[in-house]
Amino acid sequence: MLSFRCTVIGAGAVGLAVARALASRHRGENDVLVVEQGRSFGTGISSRNSEVVHSGLYYPNGSLKHRLCVEGRRALYQYCEAKGVPFNKCGKLVVAADAAEEPELDILFEQGRRNGIENVERLTGGQAAALEPDVRASAALFLAETGIFDTHSYMKALESDIAADNGTVSYDSEVVALERSGSGYVLRLRSGEEFGSAIVVNCGGLGAPDIARMVGLEPEAMHPCKGSYFAYSGGHRVTHLVYPIPEKGLTGLGVHATIDLAGRLRFGPDVEYVASTDDFTVDERKLEAFQGAARRLFPAIDAARLAPDQAGVRPKLQGPGDGEVRDFVIRDEIGRGFPGFVDLLGIESPGLTASLAIGEQVAVLLEKA
Ligand SMILES: Cc1cc2nc3c(=O)[nH]c(=O)nc-3n(C[C@H](O)[C@H](O)[C@H](O)COP(=O)(O)OP(=O)(O)OC[C@H]3O[C@@H](n4cnc5c(N)ncnc54)[C@H](O)[C@@H]3O)c2cc1C
Repeated sequence: MLSFRCTVIGAGAVGLAVARALASRHRGENDVLVVEQGRSFGTGISSRNSEVVHSGLYYPNGSLKHRLCVEGRRALYQYCEAKGVPFNKCGKLVVAADAAEEPELDILFEQGRRNGIENVERLTGGQAAALEPDVRASAALFLAETGIFDTHSYMKALESDIAADNGTVSYDSEVVALERSGSGYVLRLRSGEEFGSAIVVNCGGLGAPDIARMVGLEPEAMHPCKGSYFAYSGGHRVTHLVYPIPEKGLTGLGVHATIDLAGRLRFGPDVEYVASTDDFTVDERKLEAFQGAARRLFPAIDAARLAPDQAGVRPKLQGPGDGEVRDFVIRDEIGRGFPGFVDLLGIESPGLTASLAIGEQVAVLLEKA
């Protein structure tokens, strides 16, 4: 039977970044394999998101989300620069719409200081308006380190790096069974093909809990949480990302305004716990709520120009009504009797931003094993 040193399941941004970190350390033949059920990379969460490079402001100090977001963001900008991946460090405003919201802004400002986020400024309403003339703000934070990037080009660059280090990415390769065998694991694909691997890294995104169960683990409960977007058609003057005060319990960052690299304006994502992981329809009945959220940020906006756009689903560990922010799980399951099996669970936002740092974290975890 063919056998590999490391197999990464899932070719999203995180799986590719993990495989890149592993392949750069082990450049031999059959050392690193990525198996992906889709026909190409990034067909999951990694292509249904805001494409924002987050600063790391919001996450509990010292959490993996905080630490890996900050490290990942710095590494990501350098990587984009080196590989010619398009990005725009456009900066972001978090706005207090009125005086009543300003204490929340102060808490965030303090959190940014504690989290060691560079270049965060407290602005008056007038200063915010100088940056974004159409925004309504009684005060704001300006985060100069936040930006946007081209996630497709990023994943393509990661895939090339893996190939350059003799790694293999295999598409149309859905893992349907996994079992412990000797000092490693045997994986079976839907095609019936079987192969062995000493190390398995589960980067299955929304499918990660099912993959963990295949080997006999009982993973944390996942609560799929849809985020829908509405696109704005027509001219606008928005040049920064503009966010409201985040939602209580950080289930979402509040419906915000993002621009993409072509300057297109979108609002979203909202927060909707759902039963299914593959229903990406955007409910048109949300139009009124999105119009309200858009007007709250930009009072003069022509809200009739909003139309349903795409949706993505977050693999949340935090359930509905659960006030506790849950961290990423990145764990060698040796403690549960599965050495060399690494689970990545709950990799929601800021997973894209953190992806390179997550890759390093997994590689270091396996070096210690
Ligand atoms: C609405 C929304 C907005 C977001 N905005 C941002 C943002 O602006 N910035 C940011 O940093 N993060 C953001 N995120 C989070 C970010 O998109 C994710 O953390 C990241 O894309 C997760 O990547 P992944 O590789 O873990 O998952 P995925 O991209 O989903 O990759 C998992 C892969 O595993 C494959 N797979 C699953 N099961 C199997 C199997 N059995 N066999 C083979 N393959 C399998 C899937 O096909 C998939 O390709 C957002 C997320 C959402 C939902």
